[in-house]
Amino acid sequence: MIPDLAALHARGAAQQPSYPDPAAVDRAVARLRTAPPLVFAGECDDLTEKIAAVTRGEAFLLQGGDCAETFAGVTADNVRNKLRVLLQMAVVLTYAASVPVVKVGRLAGQYAKPRSSDDETRDGVTLPAYRGDAVNGFEFTPETRTPDPQRLVDVYHSSAATLNLVRAFVTGGYADLRQVHTWNTDFVRSSPIGQRYEQLAGEIERALTFMEAIGADPDEFHRVDFHSSHEALVLEYEHALTRIDSRTGSPYDVSGHFVWIGERTRQLDGAHVELLRHIKNPIGVKLGPTTTPDDALALASRLNPENTPGRLTFITRFGAGRIRDGLPELVEKVTAAGVQVAWVCDPMHGNTFEASSGYKTRRFDDVIEEVQGFFDVHHALGTWPGGIHVELTGDDVTECVGGGEELAEIDLGNRYESVCDPRLNRVQSLELAFLVAAMLRR
Ligand code: PEP
Ligand code: MN
Repeated sequence: MIPDLAALHARGAAQQPSYPDPAAVDRAVARLRTAPPLVFAGECDDLTEKIAAVTRGEAFLLQGGDCAETFAGVTADNVRNKLRVLLQMAVVLTYAASVPVVKVGRLAGQYAKPRSSDDETRDGVTLPAYRGDAVNGFEFTPETRTPDPQRLVDVYHSSAATLNLVRAFVTGGYADLRQVHTWNTDFVRSSPIGQRYEQLAGEIERALTFMEAIGADPDEFHRVDFHSSHEALVLEYEHALTRIDSRTGSPYDVSGHFVWIGERTRQLDGAHVELLRHIKNPIGVKLGPTTTPDDALALASRLNPENTPGRLTFITRFGAGRIRDGLPELVEKVTAAGVQVAWVCDPMHGNTFEASSGYKTRRFDDVIEEVQGFFDVHHALGTWPGGIHVELTGDDVTECVGGGEELAEIDLGNRYESVCDPRLNRVQSLELAFLVAAMLRR
């Protein structure tokens, strides 16, 4: 039985908005409860099967998108650019890994953010912290920063619009393999950074030409499977979209294909673990550097008691300086216990710092170093480095420093658009894909 909302809140749920008007919350929840599903149970089951292949070492997961989507960001250009860079990365990774790449966007639902502080003070004025467009607005005024439950309904509609566009793109010709490869060769030819990856792009070119020469033209050359994901954070929203699937009688959170529990809300007896343990979607849990092997084992037995492969993904986010020390014991003990889990590396959240200019940023080299540490640890243990989870955008923003374009701290102000964490820009994302490709082919 799915616990009711009051029972979840009674667990002292972390990171929830304080809504001033309970009647308005009830109205928003009532509206969401009758809204049609955004995803279907069968699609979630397909993704579970694909992640089961990741768990077995037979596929690689690419999960990426904004730290925080915004309502204003639901435009054709923005969604298309994000999708394009993810598809470009996926082709490079597929070739290098020689296994299917499972493509999951941090999109169509990634609107709620956990924060380290409830408040924000500017020039002596203290207001509630921005918790994502799902909760309040970014603008620093008392009206905008007050949590408004109607925004949850807006999340639903924005997610529907995004997902509709993504579905049209990936089945309507935009994901055509030749086309995606052409974008990659454009990148390789048109920039000095791209030229470093000429050899790999050339190999892919020859593979495609060979396939064409023998007359191979499978459906998979023209369309891809793409899935949505977000952090399941605001209980009102996730609970209202949890439905019993008429086909199987099982509950699914139909707000997205894959949902995860964040580092700040993974308490074993907490509301988020309690809600997600009841749904049948594939789910993830973020594991930071303080996670003990016992924590991980307890989470696995609570969230995946039947030890079903593909059901559970551990997304580790240790930081470049800690992964080589911290990850081995975790992987060793979880593996020794026979726990079926996909291991995915989030090289972003352990590597955030504040630049002298005050911008939150990340170093491209730290991101690469954490992924390299993740691969090295898994290779040493004989386990499979199952994928990467990254914050990125298809646009040429200036939010993370370094990379081939050698973006400096002084450049951050040029185009810093994230309302939350700094994302890799288009070129940095493609570079990451080519560098991870080299790690996959070692
Ligand atoms: C995030 O993925 O944006 C996030 C807040 O991550 P974490 O829970 O790992 O800090
Ligand atoms: Mn983030």
